[in-house]
Amino acid sequence: MPTIDEILSQLSRSTFRQRFCLGRVEYDYCLNKGEAVVRQHASDFIQQRLSAAIPANDGKQTPMRGHPVFIAQHATATCCRGCLSQWHGIPQNQPMTAEQQALAVEVISAWIHRQMQKPALPPKKTIKKKAKPDASGQLDLL
Ligand SMILES: [Zn+2]
Repeated sequence: MPTIDEILSQLSRSTFRQRFCLGRVEYDYCLNKGEAVVRQHASDFIQQRLSAAIPANDGKQTPMRGHPVFIAQHATATCCRGCLSQWHGIPQNQPMTAEQQALAVEVISAWIHRQMQKPALPPKKTIKKKAKPDASGQLDLL
């Protein structure tokens, strides 16, 4: 069985998978919650959204944003049963075993851990609206 390191380096050779990275909001979320809590969330998501033989909405059950684990799932091909089957050899149409779920959580946590070793991205720039000088408004007051 490949090690987590081997799995991650294989994934990083996929142009699609390696596009994913933690944004500043997700990065800060991990910092605040701590990796143990985030790992627990990963375990819950896998159990609730993926572990059934035929999960609800399979293929679309993992949002592209909103939680660091979601992003990690796309990055590590643990987002749906199709990807789990293709990348991790976990067969579809049957419930995931405890070991298979643990492997998915392991890969997700390792990916997040690596992301957290990098410096945080700068916060997203909010574009400030330029206040329009409005001479007519001034005149109306007079
Ligand atoms: Zn998928």
